[in-house]
Amino acid sequence: MLYNSTRNSNLKVTAAQAIAQGISEEGGLFVPESLPKLTPDDIKTLAGKSYAERAKFVLKGFLTDFTDEELDYCVSNAYTAEKFGSDDIAQLAHLYSGTYMLELWHGPTCAFKDMALQLLPYLLTVSAKKTVDGKDIVILVATSGDTGKAALEGFKDVDGTKIIVFYPDDGVSDMQKRQMTTQEGKNVGVCAIKGNFDDAQNGVKAIFTNSAIKQKLDSHNMQFSSANSINWGRLVPQIVYYISSYCELVKAGEIENGDEINVVVPTGNFGNILAAYYAKGMGLPIAKFICASNANKVLTDFIATGVYDKNREFFTTISPSMDILISSNLERLLYELCGKDDKAINELFTKLKEDGKYAVPDAVKQKLQQEFYGGCCDDAQTKQTIKAVFDKYSYLCDTHTAVAVKVYEDYKAETGDDTKTIIASTANPYKFSASVLGAVSSEDCGQLDEFEKVGKLNETSGMAVPKALADLKDKQARFNDCILKDEMPDAVLNMLGIK
Ligand SMILES: *Cc1c(COP(=O)(O)O)cnc(C)c1O
Repeated sequence: MLYNSTRNSNLKVTAAQAIAQGISEEGGLFVPESLPKLTPDDIKTLAGKSYAERAKFVLKGFLTDFTDEELDYCVSNAYTAEKFGSDDIAQLAHLYSGTYMLELWHGPTCAFKDMALQLLPYLLTVSAKKTVDGKDIVILVATSGDTGKAALEGFKDVDGTKIIVFYPDDGVSDMQKRQMTTQEGKNVGVCAIKGNFDDAQNGVKAIFTNSAIKQKLDSHNMQFSSANSINWGRLVPQIVYYISSYCELVKAGEIENGDEINVVVPTGNFGNILAAYYAKGMGLPIAKFICASNANKVLTDFIATGVYDKNREFFTTISPSMDILISSNLERLLYELCGKDDKAINELFTKLKEDGKYAVPDAVKQKLQQEFYGGCCDDAQTKQTIKAVFDKYSYLCDTHTAVAVKVYEDYKAETGDDTKTIIASTANPYKFSASVLGAVSSEDCGQLDEFEKVGKLNETSGMAVPKALADLKDKQARFNDCILKDEMPDAVLNMLGIK
């Protein structure tokens, strides 16, 4: 299986190259030139297997340049009971009849990014061995919260890698900051930036393209790579849990093998929902993709009108991981919907760069609307939904997941569609304790500190506090530096010990 670029269909690279490189040189994203097939017989077989075995099956179809031993090494290190709390790596909970919550947050950092970022370090080191043998991979991350911590946990103590994370000092929640500053591991570095997320991200981009720094790394046998969500190595692990959850429904007798289901995904960068779309392309019977947005509803508008327009007010919401105006992975969907026409994609994304907007042709819009339903809700509706779901079903969901539940209810009310449905549940509610507590408790908890809020939420809901978050309370911070954006290059060389 080879990979093309969304902006150059003639380019052909191996999976290892696509993963080691991250993004194509002309700015396009790597896409598989075809999709491996998944038959009902495969589903029947996979239903009797473990999550790691299901993952191996899916990866084998896409990463044809990886050996069986390499795939075994990757999945058996990533998806362990030790890291995910049990062998049930992607747990499926019953919300109400025919509606299931796919809990993707049982990993070490309590958010769905673990599903991909626990595997990526292994995919990346195997890929690097095949392409740039012998070099240490240096991962640089700018984060607004969830990604940085998940990447740190994924790369921590993985041989042949080092990871450095920059976050905006005032731009992450208390819990997220604590998660990062207390990070363990001998190959990790964490540093705060005076400024916002854009400053951190621009600083990282500038380092990636700084040839003096690149040379310096090269002379020490190191090379930069990126762990962000446009890397194919982050997308392919996400296809697994849609197939796995379908297997679980078949196994439990909730559906017959071959029945169609709907999928609802709280969406930001469009990676998670795109993985479900690829699963359908392989043969998984999915009828409708329901794309849920918060007040930053650029995708809702796009699905309704065919016009993508990022020229709009940016809202900071209580579901911060979906506060995005450019959903990078949408480019991969458009490439498929445009019939793999790289020229069309180049035109659309040149328009996006120049005007901040583009319109897709009618035929593409129609295909989009056949498969996707888009909806959104604001913070007040998100909180009402958390409370209603808790009161009615005794189920506590986080702010991102609540957006998905609300949009799904709107979809059902509008269409009457009663197809069985999986809702992607993307974070443990304790990761966003302040907002979730505010939604379910009538008391004024504004004066409490982060861990008092966690305690109060535990009292109110009865839901267990994940150990990884509870333990943070007594952990010493290891990384207390806060620097200016201009000091980032020096900080990187310092942390790598090659100044
Ligand atoms: C990253 C994230 C999302 C958005 O996922 P995308 O793949 O970027 O669409 C939703 N919820 C949570 C909790 C996240 O961390």
